[in-house]
Amino acid sequence: MRIGAHVDATDPLEEAALRKADAVQFFLADPQKDWKTPQPRTDADQLRDSEVDIYVHAPYIINLATTNNRIRIPSRKLLLGHARAAVAVGAKGLIVHGGHVTAGDDLATGFANWRKAFAQATEAGGHGLPVLVENTAGGDNACARRFDNLARLWDAVGEYGVGFCLDTCHAHAGGEDLLDIVDRVLAITGRIDLIHANGSRDAFNSGRDRHDNLASGTIDPQLVVAAVRAAAAPVIVETPGGVVGQAADIAYLRDHLGR
Ligand SMILES: [Zn+2]
Repeated sequence: MRIGAHVDATDPLEEAALRKADAVQFFLADPQKDWKTPQPRTDADQLRDSEVDIYVHAPYIINLATTNNRIRIPSRKLLLGHARAAVAVGAKGLIVHGGHVTAGDDLATGFANWRKAFAQATEAGGHGLPVLVENTAGGDNACARRFDNLARLWDAVGEYGVGFCLDTCHAHAGGEDLLDIVDRVLAITGRIDLIHANGSRDAFNSGRDRHDNLASGTIDPQLVVAAVRAAAAPVIVETPGGVVGQAADIAYLRDHLGR
């Protein structure tokens, strides 16, 4: 089982070595504000040839579901740009959040918008790597917070070979119990491509997205271990504390998984 961390993008392989990580995830641009297509990385060859598995997280500003044209249309373009750039560094997947519609809008429109994004990308030659939709923690109009909505999303996009990334903090804070969560996800998506193994600073169903380390926080870490074991998917910790905090989370998972 490959276990790694979300790291700073400056030198991901160095960050992996510092954490004894088998995998790294990073951003290719400022996740909060950069609408430009990412520039090619000078370390693309090293990343591609590395033994370390590479994952790229798409910017948070992407919202493929929204009814707002001025966000939705550039979001599709930006996701394609990040997909091409992720392929160039040998990424195994591009993670993107489930998105949301504006209050008062029908979620059905959001699911239809997701479908259009994949239909359009397919016409443009495809994303070139698996796009992994991630469950999110907050909001009343989210496409992938509650699993009843996740099922509707999958009805809309499943035929495009979309992947899934399960975040344990987002599930807990979003109001989905971690007990048996893998079975419930697999019944909907048929696949879990990646686990974001995170603790949560906030209570169950708080709707707040604040990650914590596994041994602290409000989630029983053994529930995270059980989810990782059941999913048998690669793991990325997106936890605080830099090298020390993340190395401890990786070691905790390896110890308790017996790997
Ligand atoms: Zn995550």
